Amino acid sequence: MNRARMEEGIRLFLEGVGERFPGDDLESSPARVAQAWHDDLLAGYHLDPDGEMSWTRTSPEAGPVLVRDIAFSSVCVHHLLPFVGRAHVAYLPERRLAGLSKIGRVVEAHARRLQIQERLTSEILGTIERTLEPGGALVMVEAEHTCMTLRGARKAGARLTTLASTGTFREDPEARAEVLRLLVAGGPSSLTR
Ligand code: ZN
Repeated sequence: MNRARMEEGIRLFLEGVGERFPGDDLESSPARVAQAWHDDLLAGYHLDPDGEMSWTRTSPEAGPVLVRDIAFSSVCVHHLLPFVGRAHVAYLPERRLAGLSKIGRVVEAHARRLQIQERLTSEILGTIERTLEPGGALVMVEAEHTCMTLRGARKAGARLTTLASTGTFREDPEARAEVLRLLVAGGPSSLTR
């Protein structure tokens, strides 16, 4: 990211809006706004999502692992407006069990970028697949898009759900149904057969 160019853009944007606040320090707004985007809203660009993962060895008999309600915020690439929601991740370990906080960090690294929800969902799945090499994985993302709720149709509370899956959770209808039921209904965060 080029922070100076970001600042320049914000300055032009404010000029275009034409607002004046006599006595207020609007001069420092471009730097402040650029910093917020660079350091927080788009901080995922400073991270390698696959590098956020770590794992320990486990036996293939371990059952599926579910991590629900991972809160995230992201920014829609079409309107530069936030979308906020929760990600749910399920995977069937074959040999690798993710470190306790790592799935949340992977979600964060993919979310804190300019995104579209479908891509966010498949990118989280991609990292799970590459790093954990599970028997199957499924990612569900639910989010409210401020580009839907604050502009255009203004449907307050409308949420978008996206789903991506691989391996057992894609191919075996029974395993898929079970994991979806658990993700939607809640339940234990880790299951053993
Ligand atoms: Zn949008």
